[in-house]
Amino acid sequence: SMASPALLMRVVASAYSVAEKAATIVRNVMAAGDLGIVEKTGANDLQTKADRLVQMSICASLARKFPKVTIIGEEELPTDEVTEELIEDGHCEEILKKTCPAQYTGIKEEELVIWVDPLDGTKEYTEGLLDHVTVLIGIAYGGKAIAGVINQPYYNYEAGTDAVLGRTIWGVLGIGAFGFQLTEAPAGKHIIITTRSHSSTLVNDCISALNPDSIIRVGGAGNKIIQLIEGKASAYVFASPGCKKWDTCAPEAILHAVGGKITDIHGNSFQYNKEVKHMNSAGVLATLRNYDYYASRIPNTVKQSLVP
Ligand code: AMP
Ligand code: MG
Ligand code: MG
Repeated sequence: SMASPALLMRVVASAYSVAEKAATIVRNVMAAGDLGIVEKTGANDLQTKADRLVQMSICASLARKFPKVTIIGEEELPTDEVTEELIEDGHCEEILKKTCPAQYTGIKEEELVIWVDPLDGTKEYTEGLLDHVTVLIGIAYGGKAIAGVINQPYYNYEAGTDAVLGRTIWGVLGIGAFGFQLTEAPAGKHIIITTRSHSSTLVNDCISALNPDSIIRVGGAGNKIIQLIEGKASAYVFASPGCKKWDTCAPEAILHAVGGKITDIHGNSFQYNKEVKHMNSAGVLATLRNYDYYASRIPNTVKQSLVP
């Protein structure tokens, strides 16, 4: 008889369905029209009703199934009872059919940390740039991002009413990543993807030093990693603090699962243990291929301005 699937695969399979429920909430809040916008640290750091409801849904749904897992969400919320309609208890059967990599089969609940960004690209969501938005559920073990789910609630929204709206991408180190077509960026071109709403002189100076052929400015860490793995951009470069562990955990797991690389601007890998500080203070550098080209051209003046 079949042994019960490994904990990691059960968590990823549940996170997949939880992220799909989250996407429905993101679309429903926008359709209802009352975003309930709150400024957190300022006008470029927003929270909406969707950020709040989705975080409650994801965290409560996963905590109910996996009570000993540490779950860290972006939003600070009152610890009210979560209404039953926000709970998702389904899972993706296809994920449960995959074989868990041997090094992860013995993982226990108390050894996992889940980093949740309920809505990445909130600024763009409030401005109607809907395909920038993603829901991020990253799974860490031993301080490393080992699995992740990215849902893009408005994938295809400009493709007409026949197109299926939304998609879910998932990945596990040692298995691979699914739900998209892995594509390399045009060879020999340096297409840099970066922030749209959190730019600075340092951010722009760093990009200039990389001989860009073109620069794509869009919202969301999840969105930018998707564009790397689909060949739309060659490097995600963000020489600034501001990006947090919940922004990078799920994207990192998926990018690494397909052979890419993400670090801070100095080349240090990110840590995801529960005690780690949330801010990625020394920025982000990520590529699917040719990481060394970009890493070797980050100016020392930029590095000196960003303390890890
Ligand atoms: P962006 O590329 O600007 O969409 O940023 C990627 C992620 O980092 C998003 O979740 C942003 O909210 C967050 N982020 C980046 N810079 C800042 C900042 N200066 N203040 C608050 N959040 C930021
Ligand atoms: Mg975010
Ligand atoms: Mg967010």
